[in-house]
Amino acid sequence: MSSPLIPFAKLQEAAVLRVIQGFCTAEPVAEISAEAGISAKTCRSIVLALRPRLLESRFDPWRDVGFMRAILDPELEETAMRVVLGCLADCYGNRNCYTNFQQGRRKSRLCRSCRIPALEMGADYDAAALYHIDLIHGFYAVLGIGGERRVDPVTLFRLRLSHMQIVGEAFEQTRRLDDDAPDFTDPAPRAVHALYDQIIRSLQARPLVRGEV
Ligand SMILES: [Zn+2]
Repeated sequence: MSSPLIPFAKLQEAAVLRVIQGFCTAEPVAEISAEAGISAKTCRSIVLALRPRLLESRFDPWRDVGFMRAILDPELEETAMRVVLGCLADCYGNRNCYTNFQQGRRKSRLCRSCRIPALEMGADYDAAALYHIDLIHGFYAVLGIGGERRVDPVTLFRLRLSHMQIVGEAFEQTRRLDDDAPDFTDPAPRAVHALYDQIIRSLQARPLVRGEV
C-alpha cells in the first residue's frame, strides 16, 4: 500500500517516513535512499519537494529572523529587495565565485565579477553575505544535491537559505550521538524529531502531489 502522505509515488509508508527523517537530520541523499530502499532520484525529488513546506507558519519555532536579517533586510521595499536578492542569488549560482577560492586558486573570497560589493552595503555586509552563501554551498554538498534546473535562481536561493537555516536550527537544538549525528529520539520541543512531526502534519493536511515533486 502506498503512503497517504505522498500517495502518487507508490512508496511504502516506512520508506516515506525514512526520507522525512533523513530530511530533518540533514543526511546525504545517497544515505537516505539506501536506508529507505528507494532510488536516489526519487529520494532527491522528495527532499526538494519538502522544502517549500518549511515556509509554513508551523515551522516558525525554528525560524531565526536575525539570521535571515543579516543579509536580507525585511524592511526593504519590493524593488530594492529584488535587487539584493538578485545579487545574492547571482553570487550563489556562480560556481567560480565559490570554487576558485575554495580550491585555493584565489586569495580573496570575492571574485572580480561578484555583484555583492556593488550593493554598497559595506565590507561587513559583504562578508556576512558570503558567509551565508558559503554555508548553503557546504550544506548542499553534505546533502549531495547539485544544481536544480527547474527553479529560477532567486527562488532557488530563497528555498535553500530557509532550508539550511531551519534544518540547521533543529540540528543545533538536538542532543548528539557519539558520532555527532543528531539523536532522533530527543524529545526536546525544537529538536529534529519535533521538526519531523511538523512535516508529517503538513503532509497529512496536504499530501504531496505530483506537480510538487
Ligand atoms: Zn560572488
